[in-house]
Amino acid sequence: MRKINVTIWNEFIHEAAPDAAGEYIRRIYPEGIHSFLKQKLAADDLTIRTATLNQPEQGLPDSVLKTTDVLLWWGHCAHDRVDDALVERIHQRVLDGMGVIVLHSGHLSKIFRRLMGTRCRLRWREVGEKERLWVVAPGHPIVAGVPETFTLPHSEMYGERFDIPDDGKIIFMSWFEGGNVFRSGVAFRRDSGKVFYFSPGHETYPIYHDPNILRILSNAIRWAASELQPPRVTPTPEPHEPITTENPLKDLDPELIHGKR
Ligand code: ZN
Repeated sequence: MRKINVTIWNEFIHEAAPDAAGEYIRRIYPEGIHSFLKQKLAADDLTIRTATLNQPEQGLPDSVLKTTDVLLWWGHCAHDRVDDALVERIHQRVLDGMGVIVLHSGHLSKIFRRLMGTRCRLRWREVGEKERLWVVAPGHPIVAGVPETFTLPHSEMYGERFDIPDDGKIIFMSWFEGGNVFRSGVAFRRDSGKVFYFSPGHETYPIYHDPNILRILSNAIRWAASELQPPRVTPTPEPHEPITTENPLKDLDPELIHGKR
């Protein structure tokens, strides 16, 4: 069996805060969201590691990144502390075929905004209202075994308009008790890599305890660990068929046209 190497990255700040909020969150995620997800997503075909912001090289040295098939990313209040050079390395890995699953407030992370090319802004409200998710891409691998609709009793509202590009496939739509709607699960391709954004996952509600949410993340990992390989690009290929058209520039030095190579 092919094993999928998964790395769950978490900035791991809210769960470690010494204040009352931190204490509340630790009741839901005693060892952090990353450790909780590692435990709940464990499966025979997955090798799961965790990484956090405060580790050396922010948890993602080359040795980890280059052996990661799918990266999960949870960040909120420390997006700015993520090194630009690390963001560049993650971006290149995605283009080369690494899958990435961006969770909840990761919509404003440097890596997600880099992958999208937009500002990724949205509306939000935190009053503990109900969220109802709808599957809008039946048959997609990410929704296998997920009911057509289900609710989360308490959620942070993320609402439209969500400033992401239009080339993503919408997998889930959410409705919130206060009337807002949101594209809560959207799948993208970026070169050889797959990207899935999934919004439910606010730290003060036990959203990752929900079996449907775990099923979605579990499916998304298998989907993102794509069979795609980096394209073998030959920049100056020999023609497949004889070219009989006379080149009007054949007498010019190619370096004058294309520059020195
Ligand atoms: Zn939140």
